[in-house]
Amino acid sequence: MSICKDDKKVDTNEDLFLKVQDFFDRIEESKYLQYRDGQRNMAYSVVDAIENKQILLIEAGVGIGKSYAYLIPLIQSIKNNEQFEGVIIATSTIALQEQLMNDVHKVAEMLELDSINVVLAKGKNNYICRKRLNDFLTTTGNEKYRYILDEVLKKESIDRKDFEEISDKLWKNFNVRTCSQMACPYYADCKLTHERPNYKDAKIIITNQDLFIQDLKKEEKERLFQGNRTVVIDEAHNLEDKTRNAYVLAMDKRYIESLLYRLYSSVSDYTENYLPPQQILEQLTNLFVTLRSSAKNEIRKTEGSIDNYFDYSRVNFQCNKRVEEAIKQLIISIEKILQEIQKRSTMDYYKIDKKAFKELECVKSIMEDILLKEKSKNIYWIDFADARGNYINLTYAPKKIDELSSKLLSGIHAGVILTSATLSSGKDNYHYYSSSIGLDQIVGKTVLKDFSQPSPYNYEENTILYCPQNISSPKNREEYLTDTVQEIRNLIEITEGKTLVLFTSKSDMNYVYEQINRNYFPFKIYLQRDNIDVKKLKETFEKDITSCLFATGTFYEGIDIKGESLSQVIIPKLPFPIVDPVVDYKASQYRDGFLEVYLPEMITKLKQGTGRAVRSETDTAVISILDSRIHDYNLKYNNLIFESLPFTHITNDIEEVKSFVNKKIK
Ligand code: SF4
Repeated sequence: MSICKDDKKVDTNEDLFLKVQDFFDRIEESKYLQYRDGQRNMAYSVVDAIENKQILLIEAGVGIGKSYAYLIPLIQSIKNNEQFEGVIIATSTIALQEQLMNDVHKVAEMLELDSINVVLAKGKNNYICRKRLNDFLTTTGNEKYRYILDEVLKKESIDRKDFEEISDKLWKNFNVRTCSQMACPYYADCKLTHERPNYKDAKIIITNQDLFIQDLKKEEKERLFQGNRTVVIDEAHNLEDKTRNAYVLAMDKRYIESLLYRLYSSVSDYTENYLPPQQILEQLTNLFVTLRSSAKNEIRKTEGSIDNYFDYSRVNFQCNKRVEEAIKQLIISIEKILQEIQKRSTMDYYKIDKKAFKELECVKSIMEDILLKEKSKNIYWIDFADARGNYINLTYAPKKIDELSSKLLSGIHAGVILTSATLSSGKDNYHYYSSSIGLDQIVGKTVLKDFSQPSPYNYEENTILYCPQNISSPKNREEYLTDTVQEIRNLIEITEGKTLVLFTSKSDMNYVYEQINRNYFPFKIYLQRDNIDVKKLKETFEKDITSCLFATGTFYEGIDIKGESLSQVIIPKLPFPIVDPVVDYKASQYRDGFLEVYLPEMITKLKQGTGRAVRSETDTAVISILDSRIHDYNLKYNNLIFESLPFTHITNDIEEVKSFVNKKIK
């Protein structure tokens, strides 16, 4: 059924539903799609979310084709309803964004839509900044990089995708960070500022979650992405982190010093050199030295398990007596300086640097907030800026991310689809995810939690989950590492390479790598070293069929390899979050923080990691979890872990693994 309003054809819920139903009934005619129940069911739920402006939470198992499941009803709406204001799809990875650009055109073709206006809105760090490039060339004086500028001029492109030969490490020297706009000498012909696609006319905008959230935080009229567009957050398991990132702020010693110098110089005249008092500069040094040693003490509590500060992206610090004293002294000095500067600035020949003044006031209020400890409004942590842990940033974010996220989502005046392969922790249990992003606090919108559309892949036949029992617990580090080296070596030999090993710590990874390579080992192992070009590393591992890859962190979700070269995933240790003030704070809000926070965090990550094993219908794989705690049935979490994973063929017998590999993989 369709009705006419202002002479325009408008879909009703039933009309859109029937069209989507008809599409799936005729799916055999499609050259791009194979029929899948899960995809059809998900598409129907998306119809409801679009038409009733609901928030839909839906986990989509690997292989159901979730992109098509939301694109089909969305593009059908674009085709049939002129009043439909379009779509924003926000994902976490460029790879998925580029894939979606192709998928949009395929779905448009299947739905017999002649053309569709779709734009890719990448984050600005994907473009070259001419100003930074020029500064880089001048400071390095290295002629071997001059070709990049020539290429920029020749290709007339500043897009990362046109400079694939440049490593990520090199790219970071001249990509866009902050833009000085009209103050920049290249502003007049800067491609970034003048040639960004016209988002207003686009029916579909594909972007990343960071850019989308930053934009959503702005006043409506200042937004890059205007209109009441239906929103899809794909890879929505990252939404909480991305929302927090949008509110994270950091300061270091140099930043506060520079504020002081700016302020003093703004009220200086030709007759004197008015400089910040030595005392406050010393207090600042003292505070940051104290913070650094407090953070290092936190790390030492896990002594033996680290040798590199980069194992920790966030390190808690205790507001102990020394930190407290250092902060109190600094607050008194800042207060005095602010008063003094204000007094001096009343003499009309001084033009106070108002921005620096405000920022220093803000530094003071942050210091005051830290002293409130449990009652502070922010979570504070230390980031180490170098591998030796010599330079630190004091970083902070609001505690109530769930409230902020809920407010942002409530402000979207159209349907919102939140989807990913890993949203639940436990069978059909969205509780942890929903409360983390404040879905229970949404106002003015219905939240529909649709249970997981399971993967169509035959896990029973095509996979085996191996969890050895006679392996030392990670609590006994030395024995555990010795056993782990042995197990990993054996398992790699069984599958003849083709293995991805996902570690939770770089020090464990480096140790196991060195031990295995001490003697001759017939299979090449690639290691995720610091500053390595991640994209190239993945490609090399995929092409070198019998090779192995040892990795951590983003590789838990950022690697998608179909076929033989990834026939085994090994997880040496259950991926519980390591020292993490954000997770610690969340856990502190519950009576049983382990069960309510640490466990669901770990399960989500474990699902992501083990999910690398099967990426197509024909993939066969061994999944090995070498953490004996999984067998400790006295602990209440074991059942939850096994229930959350799709593997049904589970063994602790290595002979069974060998026979599976002989039958299915070799
Ligand atoms: S206008 Fe902005 S992005 Fe463009 S070159 Fe200048 S600083 Fe870089």
